[in-house]
Amino acid sequence: MMKVFENYHLPTTVNEALALLAQYDGRARVIAGGTDLLVDTQAEVYEGHRPHFDALIDVTKIAGANEIVERDGFIEIGCGVTHTQIVNSRLIQQRATALAEASFVVGGPQVRNVATLCGNVAHALPAADGTVALMALEGDALVSSLQSPAIRNQWRPLAEIFLGPGTSAVDSTREMISAIRFRPCGANEASAFARVMRPQGVALPILGMAVRLEIRDWRLETVAISAGPVAPIPFRANRTEEFLRGKILDEAVLQEATKILLSEVSPRTSAHRATKEYRVELLPMLLEQTLRTAIERASNHGSVH
Ligand SMILES: Cc1cc2nc3c(=O)[nH]c(=O)nc-3n(C[C@H](O)[C@H](O)[C@H](O)COP(=O)(O)OP(=O)(O)OC[C@H]3O[C@@H](n4cnc5c(N)ncnc54)[C@H](O)[C@@H]3O)c2cc1C
Repeated sequence: MMKVFENYHLPTTVNEALALLAQYDGRARVIAGGTDLLVDTQAEVYEGHRPHFDALIDVTKIAGANEIVERDGFIEIGCGVTHTQIVNSRLIQQRATALAEASFVVGGPQVRNVATLCGNVAHALPAADGTVALMALEGDALVSSLQSPAIRNQWRPLAEIFLGPGTSAVDSTREMISAIRFRPCGANEASAFARVMRPQGVALPILGMAVRLEIRDWRLETVAISAGPVAPIPFRANRTEEFLRGKILDEAVLQEATKILLSEVSPRTSAHRATKEYRVELLPMLLEQTLRTAIERASNHGSVH
């Protein structure tokens, strides 16, 4: 571990961070709050392994990385923004409520004060709360990489960057997520997030779900539904969404939507959290709760504040 902390870098620009990663040629790793990375590293050291990197590149001091801004029709969240900042942001509370709700339940206050939303995404777990909310908000990640001599910044849909549980298309030893963006909810639109957690649970929920929708005369104009963990990667319920579009949510519609949702998920049993059967039991309840909450919010948001 000493070696790791001897080589702890705090770049102040994305260029500098990428140049440092290039200098270590795959032996350095991006770190933000460290609440996932250092826990994993500690486990490696306890198991008698050498950490799988020689240096850490801390991206939280990069100029502008701690900002939440509205730009070009999107809300943009920098790679240093913590869950606490998200919870406290009026812009997120009002225009991306699901994300504020998801960040609010991440760990306890100490974790939320340092853990970042970009770290939550980069870790690529299908149950990660911030990620579940962002999937329903149809977020993009700004992936920055060094393609000598220039830097390449590319907005990529979040759905594209998850390859498997804990595996991302963003190689955190050579590139970084500089920011996350999504379109804020406008008039007649709203979002909602809910999760079920073990009473003494830490880290990840039994099940989380997020919804973003738009209503016109109580009809669902658009709807996006995400849930986790119900698949190896963060999941969008495309078939359920397709069925719900254009409908008014009554009991019969909800029942059919639930049937479709259950047919398109594939939850599994996890050793420390829940059985597959329990997750299947919870899905209808979370679907109803998130849909009804978002519809109620959208009906109160005829105009945006
Ligand atoms: C006690 C405890 C409770 C927790 N509870 C929850 C919970 O309820 N819900 C939940 O979802 N999570 C939870 N977590 C997990 C964790 O806090 C979150 O996933 C957090 O958002 C990770 O962010 P971080 O900044 O700490 O990431 P780090 O640990 O710094 O990094 C995580 C991974 O992402 C990479 N990375 C980080 N930032 C970037 C970037 N900008 N670009 C490229 N790669 C990057 C790192 O190399 C590493 O692989 C918990 C963790 C702890 C220790």
